[in-house]
Amino acid sequence: MTITEFGLLPVILAAWLGACFGSFSNVLIYRLPRNLSVVGPRSFCPSCQKTVAWYDNIPLLSWLLLRGRCRHCSAPFSVRYLLVEIAGAACVLIALAKFGFTIEGLSASFFLIILLDIAIIDWQHMVIPHTLTVAGMVIGLVLSLFGNPALPSALLGGVIGGGIILLVSYGYKLVRGVIGMGGGDVMLMAMVGVFLGPWGVPAVLFGGALLGTLYAVTAGRGRLAGAAKLPFGTFLAAAAVIVLLFGNQIFSWYLSRF
Ligand SMILES: [Zn+2]
Repeated sequence: MTITEFGLLPVILAAWLGACFGSFSNVLIYRLPRNLSVVGPRSFCPSCQKTVAWYDNIPLLSWLLLRGRCRHCSAPFSVRYLLVEIAGAACVLIALAKFGFTIEGLSASFFLIILLDIAIIDWQHMVIPHTLTVAGMVIGLVLSLFGNPALPSALLGGVIGGGIILLVSYGYKLVRGVIGMGGGDVMLMAMVGVFLGPWGVPAVLFGGALLGTLYAVTAGRGRLAGAAKLPFGTFLAAAAVIVLLFGNQIFSWYLSRF
């Protein structure tokens, strides 16, 4: 089943909705790690402080029409705002291509957009806001009432996902006397377990550790070994995307090796 079978209009509307969530993601990415309210005040130009009017805040279109500048003072806005809006639309299109217009497709759309936000925030600030992971868990559990993974599987996945990280960080604390992974990682893996079910948890942990190690080896050339911290949440989020989209193929390829 391909998404073109649904006709162009529903697909464009869905992508547009994704861009709107991408636009809201820009607000979350800026405000959550700074402990600012996400409901108010409305977006304003950081240069001239003027509030951005609703017609200048339309995802994708406004940025392109105003060429990424403030209408009043022409101060340039970061191209990142446009890129995150495009990424929001891409998340929904990818989810639809994989799962179609189903509950699973809706669930995957939310999951991908929340993972995108978490990946960017953890990369920049080394923190995973509970607001995002708790919202994700609530969305995932509610949707599990109507689709896959079913509620018992989602609950079990959440408990296992959070529980494993709790155990690991507790053990790490016993051995090294420091906290290895934070509460943000516990909540992130609990959310991952809710969306992917219990079998997704070890796959994402393995993938995240692999990606983090690859990054440390290639980008850090060993400098990151030791005390320096890695934004582990970013790598877990990337691994969760891979497991969501390709987990079944990877798993059956792996089994076929025996
Ligand atoms: Zn301005």
